[in-house]
Amino acid sequence: MKLIEIMDLLEESGAYLEGHFLLTSGRHSERYFEKFRVLEHPQYAERLCSELARRFQDVAVDVVIGPAIGGIILAYETARQLGARAIFAEREAGRMQLRRGFAIEAGEKVLVVEDVVTTGGSVQEVVELVEQTAGHIQGIGILMDRSGGAVDLGYRLEALVTLDIQSYDPQECPLCRQGIPITQRGSRNI
Ligand SMILES: [Zn+2]
Repeated sequence: MKLIEIMDLLEESGAYLEGHFLLTSGRHSERYFEKFRVLEHPQYAERLCSELARRFQDVAVDVVIGPAIGGIILAYETARQLGARAIFAEREAGRMQLRRGFAIEAGEKVLVVEDVVTTGGSVQEVVELVEQTAGHIQGIGILMDRSGGAVDLGYRLEALVTLDIQSYDPQECPLCRQGIPITQRGSRNI
């Protein structure tokens, strides 16, 4: 998929919005990404995960893992297309863990996937979790890298979309200054 096709799909589904948004951090932004607007359409998730799978077609993958909740869908669909197993990590008592009997066996080749990366916090925790097993990380596939490519997780990283999304202190927000009405969004993704 070309980048323009990916962006069209994100815009068509309403996942990617432009305007004036209040983030849960209290900062303002002119762009907003709600991943579940696109992931709620299986045919869109299928296309995006097909592109993730294509990016890693040169390596063997036994297991795809992502952090709950968005990573569950991405891991499942990407694994389906790669003929691999899909598992997910989830937080328990504040720590990212494998539960539900999920395990990574010695020598298994692992692809880590995540929907949105801002500072890389959740996906970094999944990487550390996999490193504690005897599995080998083959790479990390990301739907949207909001860091503008600044995130370095120590492994090959493929992002379908890389954006450097600005956010503003309300006192210094150029959109406020222009008198553009603000929309409240309840996500910490942007
Ligand atoms: Zn503003």
